[in-house]
Amino acid sequence: MSTLLEVQDVSRTFGATRAVDNVSFKVQPGELLGLIGPNGAGKSTLFNLVAGVMRPSGGQIRLDGADVTGWKSHEMARAGVARTFQIPKPYRQLSVIENVMISAFLRERSVTAARDLADATLTDLGLAPYRDRPASELTVGLLKRLEVARALAMRPKLVLFDEIMAGLTPTEVGAMTEIVAGLPARGVTVIWVEHVLYAIMKTATRMVVINRGHVIAEGAPAVVARDPLVVKAYLGE
Ligand code: ADP
Ligand code: MG
Repeated sequence: MSTLLEVQDVSRTFGATRAVDNVSFKVQPGELLGLIGPNGAGKSTLFNLVAGVMRPSGGQIRLDGADVTGWKSHEMARAGVARTFQIPKPYRQLSVIENVMISAFLRERSVTAARDLADATLTDLGLAPYRDRPASELTVGLLKRLEVARALAMRPKLVLFDEIMAGLTPTEVGAMTEIVAGLPARGVTVIWVEHVLYAIMKTATRMVVINRGHVIAEGAPAVVARDPLVVKAYLGE
């Protein structure tokens, strides 16, 4: 199988801050890659670069072998890359189904087809009972699910999840972990940034750890968790 995503020597500076500094990694189709690192490590910036929300200052990004460096977010979405935002950004005055239909229109031309795709996505995520509620009425946990639903209704081949567990109860964490764990079998490759380490460590097939913009470790979750550089980065120096 050929590489789905290749990030090669990618950097992004903000003035004097090297938020992402020469980062390289590859993702194969069907992987569930965990991306972890302390606060400010550069995880969200890396997602912004891969999703076309920001341009890299240097380096190359390839999707299915094609150079997509500098592509805009709508171009990346059309190419099959969806993402969630750390802070959910639903259209608050629209209903849950309407929010998801907006994503579904990326793949479907008719209102009926978009509604069917949105309804199927709501069912998958346990959001069907909230279908016609305004997004503004949802709890934190349901808003996170809506954020995931909006990404998945784009039928992505690669989805980037940015801290979808934050603010969830332990029961909600369990439910969300099952949803994420089931995605590769459905043809969706996942890169998952998460602070809830126990959830990601038991679900990810491979981990990449970054600190201060650099990759400091990569490999199986159990191996990465014992890596002295990783332990040191998390405990602070
Ligand atoms: P993480 O998601 O791992 O917590 P971020 O990617 O959000 O880290 O941030 C990495 C670094 O880049 C931090 O020092 C942060 O302050 C800085 N940074 C992120 N976004 C911006 C921005 N838009 N403008 C200036 N600095 C930014
Ligand atoms: Mg972040």
